[in-house]
Amino acid sequence: MSMKRIGFIGAGNMAEAIIKGLNTTGKYEIRVTNRSNQAKLEQMKEDYGVIPVSFPEAVRDSEIILLAVKPKDVVEVLAQVNKHMRSNQLFISVAAGIPLELLAKHLPLSPMVRAMPNTSSAVMHSMTGLVKGQRVNEENQRDVEDIFGAVGKVIWIPEEQMNSLIAMSGSGPAYFYLFTEALVKAGVDMGFSKEEAENLAKETLMGAAKMLANSGKSPGELRVAVTSPKGTTQEALNVFWEKGLEDLVARAAKACKNRAEEME
Ligand code: NAP
Repeated sequence: MSMKRIGFIGAGNMAEAIIKGLNTTGKYEIRVTNRSNQAKLEQMKEDYGVIPVSFPEAVRDSEIILLAVKPKDVVEVLAQVNKHMRSNQLFISVAAGIPLELLAKHLPLSPMVRAMPNTSSAVMHSMTGLVKGQRVNEENQRDVEDIFGAVGKVIWIPEEQMNSLIAMSGSGPAYFYLFTEALVKAGVDMGFSKEEAENLAKETLMGAAKMLANSGKSPGELRVAVTSPKGTTQEALNVFWEKGLEDLVARAAKACKNRAEEME
């Protein structure tokens, strides 16, 4: 099977996380370009065997083009992309807050997909939202699933749900970090050293995450399974419920979604 050529415009944190995963598939010949940071391209060549290229080459010589520049740089870059793009190349953007309409305005003939990975791409556990844009065929869809499947799991959503997805999987990792920080503080208050409390909290979170991923049980079923009536866990959960944890989480997610809407 011949390798597909994919060109990354922007070789920053997100591009690197995706490239790390893509490399493990052996299905892609990866070209990368940056604005000015040549050293980063050379480092990526050494680490992942990617091919550093000029901007025009990244666009012209690729079957798939993946835009991974900061949102503020997107419009300027799109104008450049348009000069070198052919109509049958698949265009994927991971730029947060940049709608398909804006991408299509600059690249009216290109099949395109908007993707929203999260920071856990760095450890191959992204939960990535995908939005189908204009002219996308089945092969394009499979390619996109393959690319983001290499760094975690994917879900196709309508674009109207993008801000809700940001409130779940986009910002979600921070919610769990905050909860972990709070548990660490509680552990220190109960007499553990910071290091011990961090280990206890982190390993507990990791074990719970693996149970969620692998047990085939719902979060509610798993919770019930560790909660004996009138037992210790029940006492802790009662405090969360009395203090309105569910309402608090719902309000936090809504605030996140509202902020994403304001930033559009
Ligand atoms: P980053 O580390 O700052 O990387 C941005 C890259 O874009 C840099 O390598 C920069 O090159 C390059 N660039 C800027 N202008 C360019 C141009 N005109 N031509 C070619 N390359 C250019 O940013 P990041 O964190 O990877 O984020 C990239 C995108 O991913 C953003 O749009 C962000 O919204 C999206 N995203 C990120 C995450 C995340 O977890 N990080 C999650 C979801 C979505 P130089 O260094 O040479 O200037």
